[in-house]
Amino acid sequence: MMKTIDDFEVAGQRVLVRDDLNVPLDGDRVMDDGRIRAALPTLAALLDRQAKVIVCAHLGRPAGKPDPAYSLAPVAARLGELLGRPVRLAADITGPSAQAAVSNLPPGGLVMLENLRFDQRETSKDDPQRGLFAGELAALADLYVSDGFGVLHRKQASVYDIALRLPHAAGYLVRTEVGALRRLTADIRRPYMVVLGGAKVEDKFDAIGDLLSVADRILIGGAMAFPFLAAQGYKVGTSRLDPDQIALAQGYLDLAARAGARIVLPSDLVVAAGRDGDAAHEVVAVGDIPADQMGLDIGPGSARLFTASLRGARTVFWNGPMGVFELALYASGTRAIASALTSSEAFTVVGGGDTGAAIRALGFRDGAFGYVSTGGGASLEFIRGKTLPGLAVLDKP
Ligand code: ADP
Ligand code: MG
Repeated sequence: MMKTIDDFEVAGQRVLVRDDLNVPLDGDRVMDDGRIRAALPTLAALLDRQAKVIVCAHLGRPAGKPDPAYSLAPVAARLGELLGRPVRLAADITGPSAQAAVSNLPPGGLVMLENLRFDQRETSKDDPQRGLFAGELAALADLYVSDGFGVLHRKQASVYDIALRLPHAAGYLVRTEVGALRRLTADIRRPYMVVLGGAKVEDKFDAIGDLLSVADRILIGGAMAFPFLAAQGYKVGTSRLDPDQIALAQGYLDLAARAGARIVLPSDLVVAAGRDGDAAHEVVAVGDIPADQMGLDIGPGSARLFTASLRGARTVFWNGPMGVFELALYASGTRAIASALTSSEAFTVVGGGDTGAAIRALGFRDGAFGYVSTGGGASLEFIRGKTLPGLAVLDKP
């Protein structure tokens, strides 16, 4: 059984907390602070118990070296507002600035390290490389607390290797996430339906095979739909599509037919020549996508079809927006799914950084859903039954 922070005496101890603070930014403004808010209970408890708190996290995908465009400064500022006290950001991760900041920390004090991905060893595939970086991080602290649920599926230095080097505990967010997502892996109330969308198709595509064996129905929108539509012989114009995925999609359609699960695809789409806020756009049937247009949202017919398909569900998992919700023109499909779930009797779980940001941007409250997970890839891996490296390592002594 994994230990939590309640199992440790933390007063006066240096506690390194790995959070997932990878939030959408517009310049230096945090667009959605859901992941920062989710990190608060653990941080507040540690501060309250007079720990010396060191927060580490990543932001975006910098090229493995310091890059001001990916500084955690806006995140530190927002965390400070939410905690009601300024948050100091070290100028480096494990270098002189971090070391000085940590040695000056009073009990009940907090410092944030710079973006972990400014060091290429954080995400290295080479175990010794990651180990060296994890060793430098470990040297800063007495206890490691894993609370970045959204990164637990990554075997990275600050997620995995460090737990081999320090006494370790799960934070409250990780404990809560695991508790909620377990309801999608055992004793599932059926019918169980999964809604998939979004743009990280290559990351998520693999999950469909496993989901087909646990879910009764899978609804697919967003850019995730294009390989399936292409597999069915539709021309998808200039829509986002990796041709390698068409054969895989065909395989899933065949598997679904054999497994008795159903895959529900869009019947119509909102298309435009380009991805901008005011280009001319129109609704077309999936058989009529013009060669020079791209699908940017599911259409109103698809929204009705998906809503009807979700009726009667007793468990629903949703990951991935149905369209480019960041633009008001292409937010309707995502809004339709959110409405269907918030008015459903089912236990509804929403996962994904962008999906969570989308529902909040569209005015839905987290509390209107059964559970809103901070993890996209991580929640998908969890519910398909995979072992998350960052979770498994917490069980090790
Ligand atoms: P999450 O973070 O919730 O796991 P993803 O990162 O996979 O979700 O995808 C979110 C992104 O998908 C959004 O930025 C949205 O604009 C984009 N998206 C949704 N539908 C489409 C589409 N048809 N074409 C291109 N991008 C899309
Ligand atoms: Mg995303």
